[in-house]
Amino acid sequence: MSTPLFPLFADLRGRPVLVVGGGAVAERKTEALLRAGARPRLVAPELTTALQGWRDDGRIDWTQGVFQPAQLDGVWLVIAATADGTVNRAVAAAAEARCLLANVVDDAELSTFQVPAVVERGLLQVAISSGGGAPMVARHLRRQLETMLDDSWGDLVGLLTRQRDRIRQRFPDMGERRRFFERLLASPLPRLYRQRLQAQAENLFQSALDESVQRAPEGSVALVGAGPGDAGLVTLNALRAMNEADVILHDRLVSDDVLRLARRDATCIEVGKSASGHSVKQDEIHALMLAHARAGKRVVRLKGGDPFVFGRGGEELEFLRAHGIPYEVVPGITAAVACAAYAGIPLTHRDHAQSVRFVTAHCKDSLDTLDWASLAQGQQTLAIYMGVAGLENIRARLIEGGRSPQTPFAIVENGSRREQRVLNGTLADLPETARSHQVRSPALLILGEVAALAQTLHWFGHAPLQPTGTPTHSRNPQAPTLQAA
Ligand code: SAH
Repeated sequence: MSTPLFPLFADLRGRPVLVVGGGAVAERKTEALLRAGARPRLVAPELTTALQGWRDDGRIDWTQGVFQPAQLDGVWLVIAATADGTVNRAVAAAAEARCLLANVVDDAELSTFQVPAVVERGLLQVAISSGGGAPMVARHLRRQLETMLDDSWGDLVGLLTRQRDRIRQRFPDMGERRRFFERLLASPLPRLYRQRLQAQAENLFQSALDESVQRAPEGSVALVGAGPGDAGLVTLNALRAMNEADVILHDRLVSDDVLRLARRDATCIEVGKSASGHSVKQDEIHALMLAHARAGKRVVRLKGGDPFVFGRGGEELEFLRAHGIPYEVVPGITAAVACAAYAGIPLTHRDHAQSVRFVTAHCKDSLDTLDWASLAQGQQTLAIYMGVAGLENIRARLIEGGRSPQTPFAIVENGSRREQRVLNGTLADLPETARSHQVRSPALLILGEVAALAQTLHWFGHAPLQPTGTPTHSRNPQAPTLQAA
């Protein structure tokens, strides 16, 4: 079939549709028909339990027996869903003779209509058809669309459907109406629905309807967590935000794999900071967010891991709030959670650790403010961010505080990324081990009994490296034999 099909959404409310067959496929088709308000009539020797239930509830009619062409009288469509080719062909032929549209399940040649793969968000439906020849492609695309359209679209369509008459009265001219819809969709309305701010969304709609002059579009900022690096760890909401962004202000920590997911024509600006070289200062980042949002842009402030874990996300929100810029926050998988998972280290464990603490130790001041006596207590896991520069200090203070020098640690460098390395050892030899392997940022230190489990539970990349005489930066898959300890 080389001619494309004619796409059609049918109003079947209260209308009889014949389904030939009573098995699992017939059940699926019947369920879809019931959702559209149709009156399914089934012909089959027997029914599945669910179909029997619907018949008992009076939602479907059932003729027990075999297909007869006369059963096509008075129906609007017919679906042949039997496993018997002869029956399916007979149904198709009888329908053709009566000028009725027929769908024969899994047989594009015999069908005169196809049931598309559908993404449903309330009244909004996106239907995909490959013409019947490649249904797997349609299903694949449906899965992709499922991830792009969150269910707030259903609410939005619901509002516009309810308000249809008022919109028509207000903008009788078709061109004006179209411009109104475009304005509305570019406004914060979709975002308000995503934030479940129903009342605000309706107010905004109301004022858009009342407004005679067009206002400049309102910009906003989404504070988005990009996760630790593996693009598969980006959330669907983060993906959506990156797809809608006009401007993306990202940290250096955000991986290229993740940045590749962003909308092609978004302007990407690196505002990265490293512990040593401050490339863009925090107040410059604030100024950039403000300038772009005030220019009506949708800004994504993209941060490694989670924006609220050692990411200065709080300060950025305070700034935005003080300047009246609307914002939303998309959490991300923070380095501790990701590094632990990708190294095979459960952060808590019934036998070893009943709590886990996220700590940062990036400079001497931050080391001084920590309560080392409580950090040195046993039965807990420490996840120490930005700690690679202060390892001597960390060791000294933990041992001073009473933590055993034999406590296992793991350093996870480039967690979840292709280049991931995991180093194992004990607190006693922590700085030496890190030095001998030339650990570089980004790296996370996990300290506690659970860290040793990486040796048996690792599953991603190379096995953990050990302290004694191990080569550094080896990407040779043989290197992990160092594990023998
Ligand atoms: N907001 C981020 C943390 C920013 S602080 C988050 O939630 O993950 C930067 C520190 O995070 C780095 O110094 C390092 O300790 C840690 N880090 C971030 N990504 C990492 C990764 N892929 N592997 C190891 N450590 C990482």
